[in-house]
Amino acid sequence: MARETGPVCRLCRREGTKLFLKGTKCYSSCVLEKRNGTPPGQHTVPSRRKVSDYGIQLRAKQRARRLYGVLERQFRIYIDRAERSQGVTGTVLLQELERRLDNVVYRLGFASSRNEARQLVNHRHFAVNGRVVNIASAQVKPGDVVEVREKSRNLLALETGAQVVHQGRTVPEWLSVDTKSYRGTVVRLPERPEMEREVNEQLIVEYYSR
Ligand code: SF4
Repeated sequence: MARETGPVCRLCRREGTKLFLKGTKCYSSCVLEKRNGTPPGQHTVPSRRKVSDYGIQLRAKQRARRLYGVLERQFRIYIDRAERSQGVTGTVLLQELERRLDNVVYRLGFASSRNEARQLVNHRHFAVNGRVVNIASAQVKPGDVVEVREKSRNLLALETGAQVVHQGRTVPEWLSVDTKSYRGTVVRLPERPEMEREVNEQLIVEYYSR
């Protein structure tokens, strides 16, 4: 499964916000905070030039893409699907991103970051409705049951993820989790307040409708 490679903290610095790409490390020693939010590269002094509308829309799109760990091509597929749907394009786009299996694993607290969740899924540690799924971009739907496979239940990553959830990250109401049985259920589709606040879906839709 293709994914963005390279130093991940650079992505946060480029977007000027914490994207929580490194799991527990993001809570203890954050590079963005240490560098006072400066962008990466040699010219770290912010430019005085006014940013164009295109520039603002581009940043909004890149931020969403990096937050969910999705490459351009896949992101394009999501936006195409959202545009063809009956619902509000921006909301449907966010729902598509939230319903990715790696995101659901992260949201349920089985991983401390989406990157870690993707790796756990790729390594066949999860089953959906009793069948092993190793595709991080697989879409879940209401009623689906996501569970850790029995032989994977003693993984350290699962405990770390649960700790992060208990430290502050909460499981959203569109999901329910039973930590004792290592199982989560998709109760319904997520609503806007339950999805990423860092994402401005309106700007993303504007970017793709240019
Ligand atoms: Fe981003 Fe985490 Fe790195 Fe901080 S530590 S810059 S939140 S990836």
